[in-house]
Amino acid sequence: MHHFIFKDNELYCESVAIADIAEAVSTPFYLYSSATLTHHFNTFDKSFGELPHLTCFAVKSCSNLAVLRLFSTLGGGADIVSGGELYRSLKAGVDPRRIIYSGVGKTEEELRYGLVSGILMFNVESEQELDRLQQVAEEQEMVAPVAFRINPDVDPKTHAYISTGLAKNKFGIPMEQAENIYLRARDMKNIKILGVSCHIGSQLTEISPFTETLHKVKLFVKRLESLGISIKYLDLGGGLGVRYQDEKPPHPQEYARALKEEMQDLKCTLILEPGRVIVGNAGILVSQVLYTKQTGTKNFIIVDAAMNDLARPSLYDAHHDIMPVNRKADGAADKPFQKADVVGPICESGDFLARDRELPPFEQGDLMAIMSSGAYGFTMSSNYNSRPRAAEVLVKDDKFYVIRQRENYETLIRDESIPDFLE
Ligand SMILES: *Cc1c(COP(=O)(O)O)cnc(C)c1O
Repeated sequence: MHHFIFKDNELYCESVAIADIAEAVSTPFYLYSSATLTHHFNTFDKSFGELPHLTCFAVKSCSNLAVLRLFSTLGGGADIVSGGELYRSLKAGVDPRRIIYSGVGKTEEELRYGLVSGILMFNVESEQELDRLQQVAEEQEMVAPVAFRINPDVDPKTHAYISTGLAKNKFGIPMEQAENIYLRARDMKNIKILGVSCHIGSQLTEISPFTETLHKVKLFVKRLESLGISIKYLDLGGGLGVRYQDEKPPHPQEYARALKEEMQDLKCTLILEPGRVIVGNAGILVSQVLYTKQTGTKNFIIVDAAMNDLARPSLYDAHHDIMPVNRKADGAADKPFQKADVVGPICESGDFLARDRELPPFEQGDLMAIMSSGAYGFTMSSNYNSRPRAAEVLVKDDKFYVIRQRENYETLIRDESIPDFLE
């Protein structure tokens, strides 16, 4: 369900014509629907009903301050993976007591920042990280709340680059080592054990890897309790998939039902870290056709957005639906659909947004919507080819708000300098 809909052949976001936004802010830009963000967050969160739980939005999937603020007003926490994400979350008004800090490589400075900010817990991923956290906490004369991220060795059946819970992945602590680490941590003066965490991957379209994981983690929690280590939080991570093309991911209610059943005989609070399922289909990338050309074998539609704006097609060969913003560009009347590649201006053959796609006949100047771009869209964008990053816009009802200005040439070189010897 989302609020990007055609009215009289014009694509709207809620009650705003997307062409009007393009006119005002120029292209390319990311566009989010606040009604869709709200609906997705609430559907997910409410699916868990009475089960004690906390929904910590995965900041890395879409980290604009306005988006983070929206979720925090809905009662959400944040799952962060860097000091920068902590800074953003705090600036956006997220309650630190609802912030979980994940990631394999937290620096000493980041550990200190999390600790003094009063976050809910650190998901620690190695014994060395535990030692460093103990040392930082001792220096601060504080007690650090921790969970250990365990690697359950479950196949999430998703793209290899976004699998994280297999034995060969860099994430977490192997089950068989985890018990000893908990026992060590229990005796550390400045460490307080609060939970067990895991996260097996992203864009999962089946429930069984989640329940298999939860089952393994549950047995582990029981084992810890038999050793006198009580566990308050069970963090199952994120990973629920969305529909980009013809995937059939489980509905959040179905997912929640399966987890609730598995949680029945546990007294822990369940922590969830959804990213994609909340924002994926709540955002699009809007671009404009610069040129079209036919080579001997192919049709190319060259647009003003590129792999630096949306990396997913190049990085994962991901599919994003392509829509005209004005359907008059649609082939329904006389011109038939034709197979084309949608490509950007970057000097790489890997710079494409769609390949060999049956598309309506886009013409120079037409606006194009690249759908399902809300997650891992803007947040993965870069300045490659010295391209200023796109604007971000949020719609609410019949109004739109620029929530991130388009970068300009000055911002591109703002932090650079030429050393004396070159002057
Ligand atoms: C990326 C990530 C998430 C979010 O994953 P989605 O697939 O977007 O739901 C949650 N937790 C951790 C630890 C992550 O690394």
